[in-house]
Amino acid sequence: MANRSPAIKYTQLFINNEFVPSASGKTFPTINPATGQKIIDVAEADKADVDVAVAAAKRAFQRGSEWRNLDASARGRLLNKLADLIARDTEYIANVETLDNGKPYGDSVFDIQCAIDTFRYYAGWSDKIHGNTIPADGTSFTYTRREPVGVVGQIIPWNYPVLMLAWKWGPALAAGCPIVLKPAEQTPLTALYIAALSKEAGFPQGVINVLPGYGPTAGAAISSHPDVNKVAFTGSTEVGHLIMEASAKSNLKRVSLELGGKSPLVIMDDADVDEAVEIAHGAIFANHGQNCCAGSRTFVQERIYDDFVKKATAKAAARKVGDPFSEGTEQGPQIDDEMFNKVLNLIESGKKEGAKLQCGGQRFGKQGFFIQPTVFSDVSDEMRIAKEEIFGPVQSIIKFRTLDEVIDRANKTTYGLAAGIITKSLDSALVFAQAVQAGSVWVNCYDAVVPQAPFGGFKQSGQGRELGEDSLKEYLEIKTVSIKLPVKN
Ligand code: NAD
Repeated sequence: MANRSPAIKYTQLFINNEFVPSASGKTFPTINPATGQKIIDVAEADKADVDVAVAAAKRAFQRGSEWRNLDASARGRLLNKLADLIARDTEYIANVETLDNGKPYGDSVFDIQCAIDTFRYYAGWSDKIHGNTIPADGTSFTYTRREPVGVVGQIIPWNYPVLMLAWKWGPALAAGCPIVLKPAEQTPLTALYIAALSKEAGFPQGVINVLPGYGPTAGAAISSHPDVNKVAFTGSTEVGHLIMEASAKSNLKRVSLELGGKSPLVIMDDADVDEAVEIAHGAIFANHGQNCCAGSRTFVQERIYDDFVKKATAKAAARKVGDPFSEGTEQGPQIDDEMFNKVLNLIESGKKEGAKLQCGGQRFGKQGFFIQPTVFSDVSDEMRIAKEEIFGPVQSIIKFRTLDEVIDRANKTTYGLAAGIITKSLDSALVFAQAVQAGSVWVNCYDAVVPQAPFGGFKQSGQGRELGEDSLKEYLEIKTVSIKLPVKN
């Protein structure tokens, strides 16, 4: 049940299975985006704390440690236990998530279920990670081992705090890597609670460490740390560049990046317009537009364009915005004043550059960071709202004539995270799926993200993949062992 004021149980850093204050004693406030008011002060990690947490993780990873001596199947049981505990406490965690992030309570419950599914999926992988025997030339017995890469730094954003944690922890823990995670400064609370659950589940000391703090301080200390063997990051493309640079300048730690996007959703004129409006609406307005794979360029074929615009506008105008704890609310506030202002600024640019505002376009209400669901038609490819990641509830509807033309225009971006097409033609769907430069392509659906299938970006939307078997590779080294034999065969 939704509860506007869940008691906050943990606000300190989680290192070596204990909650501790930061070395500096500093704290920072975490804000309720629905009101703009402080929820509570949280310990602020910096480089000194990162050093302590990395040392704890390194100890946990030493040969002969409890963690290294665990059977692989036991790692799977721990992951399943963690999933059980998250399931047990779903209501509480969902309330804290909604308080800290502003997403509707039902959306928080949904995210938490997806996180549980992710943990269970990777629990199953723990004892199925193995190498090959290789028919090598000459006289040797040659085999490969897949070994954990070592201490992993994980830096996550605020848009899906629990789910991003699960996407990062699941494969890392299945692979056997200890973790130092930095949640986003806007949303540290659920990660701290789940850290406590990891102790209850029985993860040994030092395997899981959670350090709330800011990017340029705690985040940079993780990405440049000489004893961190791999860093996994989700967030802006701009910071993705910094993470790679920090790796290059420190120890060439492995890097995986899941960054921004400007994903095209193409609606062909053979589509059912009502159904297309529904899918396109969900594609852009889900999570208030704060979604890396948001369908933020809605391309509509000219014959159905006017009808689509009319219906999409009616749908957006009817979207229920308000208190994220109230039943029926579909859209809560944007995450903070910075994003609120960024989105409003981009909306202004759309108006100035000649896009036609069909609905919304302003803040919603008088407090908090709410923005009206906004629809622009007559958007052209050169406008900022068609090029830049808005990360807000703003649908940009763009007209096109032919499939070939729209493929070229869809690909004319530095991003390549996701793409969608709505059509009754198998040919159109297949040609598009082949030609579009994106890590995920959705046909007659959108946001079809599941733990079993890889997710990630082409071009500047990222490096590497999360979810599925592919994510495990990001946390594993391959070792080839060759043993001389006296005779062949
Ligand atoms: P951000 O990239 O600044 O923050 C994401 C995470 O990176 C946070 O934990 C932050 O503390 C950390 N970070 C920031 N600077 C860092 C640094 N120098 N070194 C290491 N870590 C650092 O994202 P933001 O400012 O919260 O949002 C800005 C834009 O990023 C959004 O408008 C959106 O376009 C994009 N974004 C994308 C995603 C995604 O899921 N791909 C998520 C959030 C934001």
